[in-house]
Amino acid sequence: MSFEPKTTIEPFRIKSIEPVGMTTLEQRQAALKRVGLNLFQLRSEEILIDLLTDSGTGAMSASQWSAMMLGDESYAGSRSFFKFEARVKKITGFKYMLPTHQGRSAEHILFSTILTPGQIVPSNTHFDTTRANIEMQGVETCDFLISEGKNPMLDYPFKGNMDTEKLEALIEEKRDRIPIVMITVTNNAGGGQPVSMANIREVSRICHANDIPFFIDACRFAENAMFIKLREPGYADRTPLQIAQEMFSYADGCTMSAKKDGLSNIGGFLALNSEAWSERCRNKMITIEGFPTYGGLAGYDMEALAVGLEEVLDEHYLRYRLGTIEYLGMRILEAGIPIVRPTGGHAVFIDAGALLDHIPWHQYPGTALSAYLYEISGIRSGEMGSAVFAKKNADGTLTPAPYELMRLAIPRRMYTRSHLDYVAEAVIYAARHKREIRGVRFTYEAPVLRHFTARFEWID
Ligand SMILES: *Cc1c(COP(=O)(O)O)cnc(C)c1O
Repeated sequence: MSFEPKTTIEPFRIKSIEPVGMTTLEQRQAALKRVGLNLFQLRSEEILIDLLTDSGTGAMSASQWSAMMLGDESYAGSRSFFKFEARVKKITGFKYMLPTHQGRSAEHILFSTILTPGQIVPSNTHFDTTRANIEMQGVETCDFLISEGKNPMLDYPFKGNMDTEKLEALIEEKRDRIPIVMITVTNNAGGGQPVSMANIREVSRICHANDIPFFIDACRFAENAMFIKLREPGYADRTPLQIAQEMFSYADGCTMSAKKDGLSNIGGFLALNSEAWSERCRNKMITIEGFPTYGGLAGYDMEALAVGLEEVLDEHYLRYRLGTIEYLGMRILEAGIPIVRPTGGHAVFIDAGALLDHIPWHQYPGTALSAYLYEISGIRSGEMGSAVFAKKNADGTLTPAPYELMRLAIPRRMYTRSHLDYVAEAVIYAARHKREIRGVRFTYEAPVLRHFTARFEWID
């Protein structure tokens, strides 16, 4: 007997439920008008399925909720801190851990402590808060993603890898200006594409041969570890924990947003081996986050994190997690709709520019598709195209983003397979009726990070 089910089931059952926003077409049309087609401005009760982001939006487990009752809210020396710290040390092996309220705060503490103006920090691809926190210090950033990673439709197992030849060339030329090298796992900006162990090892070798500390932006370390297990020769029999431990063993420190693979709604940390840097970072931390045994967190948050960081490395969970994203991506792809391939760890990206070939980039096909999808179905997605990433030139013209994408980011442990079937159905309906979708134009834009507060209107 060998029952081999094809269905990837949720490896949990539901104990506590929360209603979703049921609306009529007329209500959604009125809401779109009110917010100027900008889904960031919707209220959550107007949304049926919220795929805006996977950050801090997931569901916690019964173990996490019960652990929260043990939260020790002592200002100094909290028991909850020591549990959290022990868990982080077990996974990362780093000697020092500083808790923070989220990832960008860990970035800010690290970069404002160790960087000086005129330096350069290379990465596979910096996430936008990482880039902003580095550039705020008067430091340049550069992204050395392998060329395979820049082609959205190319099927390649590790599209998040760093181009190590480019890294070596930069080090050769400007060694003295490089204080650290970073690598983001998985590569969020590139669609949640993983980085291979071989690549992490090689980047580490290059850094250490040149005496440069190597840091990991570890937000999705568990998803990355599972991709290594599934795709990289030699790792099939290792546990996700063992793989994660090996990944971190090549690095000197990491920044982490626990709103992702911490399976929690808030939290983060900075972990590192250098005693001198951790002492300086801790002093900086006290002025902006809080005492070193709580950072920006309550004791109960640290309890939830200690449990979340254990649950996230469960192989059944990770199989389901990656399998879910792949399932949604395949349903959409099989309907002939172009997506970024292979699917990454936390989202399905639709190539709105290719799908809506009647809408030019400067009429924002990703924004248009996203607004239309909400209108027909109540699903909230996010534009990842020129409304977000176009670069303003000195003469006032815009250079478009490389691709006009629309992102369906999947919160962790939150939606069932039937929710995802509904999403696939709605996306397929939108594709079949694409001639109904018109381009959009800005009616308001802020000078920076315009996508959060922008207003648009449909072009007739
Ligand atoms: C989310 C994220 C961050 C920032 O973390 P926050 O908790 O949102 O501040 C940094 N890097 C990557 C790769 C991320 O996905």
